[in-house]
Amino acid sequence: MKKCSQCGSFNENDVIYCTECKNKLGSPLTKEEEIQAMQE
Ligand SMILES: [Zn+2]
Repeated sequence: MKKCSQCGSFNENDVIYCTECKNKLGSPLTKEEEIQAMQE
């Protein structure tokens, strides 16, 4: 899972550009980051 740094939406790991705002996504979240993100 990747989290967009611009709009905060979640995208699949194979997505390069955010589906919401077309911002270029960085590295996928780690499992820990993913769990933390889901709690927010
Ligand atoms: Zn975005």
